[in-house]
Amino acid sequence: MNEADFQRLKEVLSAPKKVAIVTHRNPDGDAYGSSLGLYWFLVKTGHEVTVVSPNDCPEFLKWLPGQDQIEIFEANKERGKKILHAAELVFTLDFNAFHRLGELMEPVMEEIKPVYVMIDHHQQPDDYADFSFVDSSMSSTSEMVYQFIERLGQEELIDKDIASCLYTGILTDTGSFRFPATTSATHRVVANLLDKGANNAVIYNRIHDVNTYNRMQLLGRALDNMVVLDRFHTAYITLSQNELNRYKFQRGDTEGFVNYALSIKNVMFAAIFIEDKKQKIIKISLRSVGEFSVNEFSRMHFNGGGHVNAAGGRSDLSLSETVKKFVDILPSLTNELTFSS
Ligand code: 5GP
Ligand code: MN
Repeated sequence: MNEADFQRLKEVLSAPKKVAIVTHRNPDGDAYGSSLGLYWFLVKTGHEVTVVSPNDCPEFLKWLPGQDQIEIFEANKERGKKILHAAELVFTLDFNAFHRLGELMEPVMEEIKPVYVMIDHHQQPDDYADFSFVDSSMSSTSEMVYQFIERLGQEELIDKDIASCLYTGILTDTGSFRFPATTSATHRVVANLLDKGANNAVIYNRIHDVNTYNRMQLLGRALDNMVVLDRFHTAYITLSQNELNRYKFQRGDTEGFVNYALSIKNVMFAAIFIEDKKQKIIKISLRSVGEFSVNEFSRMHFNGGGHVNAAGGRSDLSLSETVKKFVDILPSLTNELTFSS
């Protein structure tokens, strides 16, 4: 954002405002981490703030400071609507198109007329925002929220709660600091967050050491279902609704499963297809290493998007038809799905 726009936004924020912070459906660590980090900061600077999430988060995020105050839209649509209509300023965090909010919330966002501020690191944003902080090279929205606070010159307001939220978002979106978008600047932000009181060891445990026996069994099933297509350097996993039910699937249980497919030697493209009988869709997660863009792939074939190396999408076909569609596309991508030597 250019300096003149930034100064205008700073001016808007100089007087107390009714603010809503909105994040995407099926919130992950970065969605809630960035939203709650910004939430505590705006509360501290005198605003009346509510975080609105389309649906609830997985268990491993339930400890985040302020998580219990988040307004879950699908749980109380009327109250959520009221909050969004009353907001003078709406921050949209970790997504860039209203359809990521789901059918219930999308129309409400279309009808309200607040000042919209987007902070996001995905590609190809829609243009609803009055103020946009968009940088697809960023590790996470949480890192961008840190930069936002820094640019406002209010870094000294970052306390342990804010630091813990932002640290969580960076930790989860960088796959514990290992994805290519993790830069030296990311590590400097992280170092500052530790200085402000974020406890890296405690947070790591809360996020990762929450496996249940059922989740481990489900992972076993997923790995058993994995198919490797050597010719296309591709591997994919399927999980049917029956399999999910058998292992008492909880929201978040399949998080990270697709990375096992990607970790196989000589695999550069990985997918997981998860059947959702309630929504009547197949939820797809796509990952790649190198230049093959799963964002493009998902936009073109599976109504989704995301980043070059991590994207999501959906299909209205059955599980087996979806997999067939996927496998049938691969021959046309033989050239791209090749390691350059
Ligand atoms: P995941 O596979 O973990 O659900 O998502 C991977 C990345 O793609 C995340 O950054 C997520 O925000 C994005 N993403 C997931 N599903 C969709 C989708 O349906 N549309 C778009 N545009 N992005 C998605
Ligand atoms: Mn993110």
